Amino acid sequence: MVKAIVGANWGDEGKGKITDLLAESSDVVIRFQGGANAGHTIINDYGRFALHILPSGTFYPHVTNVIGNGVALDVKKLVAELKSITDQGVPQPNLIVSERCQLLLPYHVLQDSYEEERLAGKAFGSTKSGIAPFYSDKYAKIGVQVCDLFDEPRLRERLEHALGIKNVLFEHLYHKPPLELDALMEELLALREDLRPFVGDAVGFVHDALAQNKTILLEGQLGSMKDPDLGIVPMTTSSHTLAGYGCVGAAIPPTAIQDVICVTKAYSSCVGSQTEPFVSEVTGEAGDELRRRGGDRGEFGATTGRPRRVGWFDCVATKYGCRIQGATQVAVTCLDVLGYLDEIPVCVGYEIDGQVTDVFPTTPALLRAKPVFETLPGWKCDIRGETDYRKLPQAVKDYVDFIESRVGAPVTIVSTGPKRHEIAMRG
Ligand code: GDP
Repeated sequence: MVKAIVGANWGDEGKGKITDLLAESSDVVIRFQGGANAGHTIINDYGRFALHILPSGTFYPHVTNVIGNGVALDVKKLVAELKSITDQGVPQPNLIVSERCQLLLPYHVLQDSYEEERLAGKAFGSTKSGIAPFYSDKYAKIGVQVCDLFDEPRLRERLEHALGIKNVLFEHLYHKPPLELDALMEELLALREDLRPFVGDAVGFVHDALAQNKTILLEGQLGSMKDPDLGIVPMTTSSHTLAGYGCVGAAIPPTAIQDVICVTKAYSSCVGSQTEPFVSEVTGEAGDELRRRGGDRGEFGATTGRPRRVGWFDCVATKYGCRIQGATQVAVTCLDVLGYLDEIPVCVGYEIDGQVTDVFPTTPALLRAKPVFETLPGWKCDIRGETDYRKLPQAVKDYVDFIESRVGAPVTIVSTGPKRHEIAMRG
């Protein structure tokens, strides 16, 4: 049985917390796309962690965590993250890194920052962690797989070919020093030894797990709006953020995904550049207050520390986000954050060229969209940590009912705080 946990919006919806919670009753957790360019915040008995590359089942000894072939693997960051959690007292996780996974190399990171520098003010707000150059190279077929690390002549040949192309760019487009093959080989061969204990046949492992009826969680990174096909192009990431991509990035048969849990916050948040369309954005003092109260420590990126833009709940974007994910259920997180408001605006439509629509448009129209708000009553009390859905104030339940009626999939999980068990299941 495979369940996907994916983001309905711009990312940072609280997927890490939901995955950590569901991992308790699962056997395998798989990261299937993205890299270390975003983070999942997890707060449990060991402390507070921002995981960037390790799957969120990392804290359970009974879970096998898999870094699937669809991930952009920055080995240096993986090794540092493993060390940092074990230094904090977490036992070494059970981890399999797919031998088919491709390596995010130091020159991808360099290329990312050179490109941002070149674009100056027109940049898309990349995290400069090399994700876009990595995926470009993968599809240009000049990437390096984990398995290549264990065949030195082949590794040298692959890198030589890639560097031939990179160095033209580095020297003539970016006016930077060329890359040196020998130095890179040496660095990679040293990292290989750190990686060696975890490398394995993830495809075989996953298919055996399916044959044994194990419960597998697919853990998505970022959200629907960041998908390079169906998101807000081109302000997207470079890997597919949709549950459907789990079939490729984790080598899961399409028919095996039975459940798609789409996670959304009870309001909106968005990292990225200021030029990105964000229709339900709240700015000024009201925005500052929501940002300060949001998440577990304010709305600041788990990896980048960048302040997130915040907005009211956006029914148009979330309905579309749930639809393209194929949501079978919806988890609404951070409901506790809204307890300070007398009334809560909710974006129910977009006005585009004088017409109101609830259909999420393509980017040119999205850039012209203005929000249409409806206002719901607030509950004016602290619901943090409530685990019994029936005990929540009526105004909270009405808010959840409203969201459910607009997003097109049942809301089954409501999160009332950042900690693992601060959650209410909606019967
Ligand atoms: P992810 O990338 O989707 O896992 O999300 P992040 O971890 O980047 O961001 C979610 C933020 O919201 C983190 O700071 C979480 O600790 C926090 N969070 C998750 N669920 C809740 C909740 O129900 N209430 C509050 N107050 N914070 C939450």
